[in-house]
Amino acid sequence: MSSNLIDLARPVVKTMQAYQPGKPIEEAQRELGIASFIKLASNENPRGPSESILTAISAALPDINRYPDANGYYLKKLLAEKNGVGAECITLGCGSNDILELVASAYLDRGTTAAYSQYGFLVYALATARSGAAPIVVPAKNYGHDLLAMTAAVTENTRVIYIANPNNPTGTYANEQSLVGLLDGIPRSVIVVLDEAYFEYVSRPDYPDGVSLLARYDNLLVTRTFSKAYGLSGMRVGYSVSHPDIADILNRVRQPFNVASLSLVAAQAALKDERYLEQTVAMNHAGMKQLETGLKR
Ligand SMILES: *Cc1c(COP(=O)(O)O)cnc(C)c1O
Repeated sequence: MSSNLIDLARPVVKTMQAYQPGKPIEEAQRELGIASFIKLASNENPRGPSESILTAISAALPDINRYPDANGYYLKKLLAEKNGVGAECITLGCGSNDILELVASAYLDRGTTAAYSQYGFLVYALATARSGAAPIVVPAKNYGHDLLAMTAAVTENTRVIYIANPNNPTGTYANEQSLVGLLDGIPRSVIVVLDEAYFEYVSRPDYPDGVSLLARYDNLLVTRTFSKAYGLSGMRVGYSVSHPDIADILNRVRQPFNVASLSLVAAQAALKDERYLEQTVAMNHAGMKQLETGLKR
C-alpha cells in the first residue's frame, strides 16, 4: 500500500548521508555514565556568552512575537563598518553553514562541478551533493589544501571552489602566496568560497586576510561566523563578504527570515564586546601552547 518514501526522494538525496554532529553533553553523560566532560567535538567556545550578550538578548525577548528584520539592517551596518565595505557586500546566514549552502543552491546545478579538498570541512560535500553538481575532491597535501592541484583541477564546468582557511578538522592553513596563486590561476567564472570560520584565532604573518583580497578578485566570497570565537554557536548566525552582485544572487535564494531576531541582537552585541574576543583568543593561544607542550612530553 504505502509508496516507498525513500525511493521518492531526488536521486542525489538518496546517495547522501546525514551530517553526524558531535553529541550533546547530556546525551554523552547518559550513555557513558560519566559526569564530567570537556567537549571538544564541535570547536565551540567553552567560555559561554559574555554578559553584554545575555543583557542584549534579554532586552529583545518581549519582541519575539514579531518576525526579525529580514534584511538585518543594523547587523549588516556594523559588519560593513568593521570590514571596510558597503552593507550591500554583506550576506547574513543562519550560521555560515547557511551561506555555504546558499552558494551551492545559487551557483551549482547538474552538469557543473565544485572543488574542495580531501579532509576539507564536511559541509562542502553535503552542499555540493544536494545541488546535483559533481564533486571534485582534490587530494590533500600534508593534510592541508593543495591549492596548486586545486587550480589544475578546475574545468570550464567548475562553478565553485570551497576552501577552509584554516581548515576544520585538520587545522592547516593556506598562506597568502598560495591563495593568490589560486585566484590568479583560475577563471573569473569560478566562485571561490573562502571559509574563515576561525580567522580570529590565527596570528601567523603569512595568513591572508580574505576581505582585503576582495578588491582584486570579484569572484571571491569570504564567510565568517559568530559560532566560534564569539561564543554563539547556539544562535546560528554567520555572514559573508563579497561583491554586491554575488550578495544579490544569494539574497534571491535565501529564506526571507533566515536569521532569528535574538541572533541578530546577539551578534550585534558580540561585535561591540572586543574584550571578550581578545580574552577568547588569548585563552586559545595559551591552550594551544599547553597542548603542544603536553603532547611533546
Ligand atoms: C564551524 C564551522 C563552520 C560553520 O559554522 P556555523 O556555525 O554554521 O557558522 C564553517 N566552516 C568551518 C570550517 C567550521 O569549522
